[in-house]
Amino acid sequence: MTDVFADLVGQDEAVVTLRRAAASAAALLRAAAPAVSRTGAPAAGGADPDGGHDDLDALAEQLDGPGDAGDRTGAEPGAGMTHAWIFTGPPGSGRSVAARAFAAALQCVHGTGCGHCPGCHTTLAGTHADVRLVVPEGLSIGVNEMRALVLRAASTPSGGRWQIVIIEDADRLTEAAGNALLKAIEEPPPRTVFLLCAPSTHPDDISVTIRSRCRLVPLRQPPAGAVAEVLVRRDGIAPDVAEWAAAAAQGHVGRARRLARDPEARQRRDAVLAVPRRLTGVGAAFDAASALIEAAEAEAAASVAEVDEAERAALQTALGAGGTGRGAAGAMRGAAGQLKDLEKRQKSRATRAQRDALDRALVDLAGFYRDALTMALRAPVAPVHTDTAALAGAGAQKWDAEGALRRLEAVLECRAAIEANVKPRIAVEAMMLALWKG
Ligand SMILES: [Zn+2]
Repeated sequence: MTDVFADLVGQDEAVVTLRRAAASAAALLRAAAPAVSRTGAPAAGGADPDGGHDDLDALAEQLDGPGDAGDRTGAEPGAGMTHAWIFTGPPGSGRSVAARAFAAALQCVHGTGCGHCPGCHTTLAGTHADVRLVVPEGLSIGVNEMRALVLRAASTPSGGRWQIVIIEDADRLTEAAGNALLKAIEEPPPRTVFLLCAPSTHPDDISVTIRSRCRLVPLRQPPAGAVAEVLVRRDGIAPDVAEWAAAAAQGHVGRARRLARDPEARQRRDAVLAVPRRLTGVGAAFDAASALIEAAEAEAAASVAEVDEAERAALQTALGAGGTGRGAAGAMRGAAGQLKDLEKRQKSRATRAQRDALDRALVDLAGFYRDALTMALRAPVAPVHTDTAALAGAGAQKWDAEGALRRLEAVLECRAAIEANVKPRIAVEAMMLALWKG
């Protein structure tokens, strides 16, 4: 079956919840279609069907609150559906894939996420008029962006179904933006659905008040077998390559695909996994730190260069660069400010890209020391990096479980420090020294 949930790898429980919600949302729309004709019992909130509400208000009141996600059957319209959702899970588990798939199921003209109708297609392609996707490019989502979004989300859906707002990294909301969002979630327009994605529901990631208004869809790290299967089925990757990539990517679907397909990504990984062998002294540790930082910078620069240039060109065209008309002088005065804004945005995006690249390297490195640890413990677990398993085995003998654990912790501490805004070079140098000393 290749409906919209097909690419949500290894998340059977979440898919059941989302399918049921989509079906019940479709039932709601059907019930509302002939204006205020429903005669059934009001939903848990005690809505009064004759109290002068229009059909949209009645519809909104049928939506469940966040608390009762559980075991309603879907027999009454509204059960299983609510207007605000949070998808949580480790990076690569498919938070945004799940949110997009659910959005498609809600916009599906058959109401189930068939994967073939215009509603499903345009949503998955990112061109549906009633689905807005926020992908923060920089380190945070600002209040102005959020206000504009909330305003547009309040309009009546042009396709007659739902207005959907997907926020891909809700943990990057600024406090003010979070408040603007909270207000919209607290007083939701009748047909607006908010889908938030965040690593967890820890208060650092998502405010307690927003969390309390949303229904939670926890995703797990997909098992390597399920990741390999999707790489073979969807991307046509050879089974042995898919298996290796799925294990090496540690449950991160996108990363697995990149490793399987992109030779440069494989080379970068090889360079990272060569680090443990190269740590022969203090000088070597600092060299390894520099190499890791510079590799992340180069990778990030390459990934943003093209879009940076396109944006600059587009802005210059919009500002009429080289124009000689009457408006040109005025335009030039505003242009400096706009260019400065653009540069600020681009710098923020570049910083994010660097951190992401560095984090990927640290996850690979952590996988190596995890392998050494599980081998020292003789745990019956398949290695993350099959291609460096022999080296990890040698480390296990030399360091014992304790030494392997200390090294693994050094890598994880480095990730945490960078996330907490310690300068990457300082954090990485401290880590390399710890890895060398053990
Ligand atoms: Zn469909």
